[in-house]
Amino acid sequence: MKEIRHIVNSFKEFLAPRHCEACNTYTQKSRQHLEFLCDECMSSLKAPPKEDVLMKRLLLHFSQDDLSISRFFSLMAVEHSSPMLNLIYSLKYRGMARIGYELGNELGKTMLHLHYLDFEVILPIPIHSARTRERGYNQATEICRGISEKVEIPILTNAIKRIRYTRTQTQMNARERKENVSGVFGPDYNSSSIHGKKILLVDDVLTTGSTLNSCATSLLDLGARQVNVATLAVAE
Ligand SMILES: [Zn+2]
Repeated sequence: MKEIRHIVNSFKEFLAPRHCEACNTYTQKSRQHLEFLCDECMSSLKAPPKEDVLMKRLLLHFSQDDLSISRFFSLMAVEHSSPMLNLIYSLKYRGMARIGYELGNELGKTMLHLHYLDFEVILPIPIHSARTRERGYNQATEICRGISEKVEIPILTNAIKRIRYTRTQTQMNARERKENVSGVFGPDYNSSSIHGKKILLVDDVLTTGSTLNSCATSLLDLGARQVNVATLAVAE
């Protein structure tokens, strides 16, 4: 049933005129930037906090010793009521993988522009294999494809995998989140390729960063030299 929904949604992506995935309005006008985002929504994109502010924010949830992320980059900030959350929702739950690829492209363009290119491989944060089966794709891999095309740095897959299914973390406090994500990631058959590498780890949204930090810790344990992170959005 989910596969059928996925096919139907993919087919709907080809239909025009398009509606804006963020604010849901239809328009006949051609879009200046992205096909699935109207120009009004595009121009209302909110810049993410600066990198030092983001790093300080991560330190609210981890001690300096527990923090495995060296640098952080994002495309936009999204507030609780932001229509942009609809975009992320469509990417994750409505089969619209292309949103990940195109926003990944935007992210890659911005990284090029700001010379944020201090990494040798791009790695999608893994989702559990049951979720990949259900969704048909890992949204982080789609974002990686978009970034990789712009910055011309390769994607590395199967270096790490999610070995435990995690409960949704929205109602948890910081300590519960930390416990919920410990031991979640483990080596995959391609793990030796990350040895000595500077990695860009990619996810859709930053909330507390507990899952990303847990994955970064596992990557360092597996021999990575440094882990930087990029996300499409930072939740505010
Ligand atoms: Zn819109």
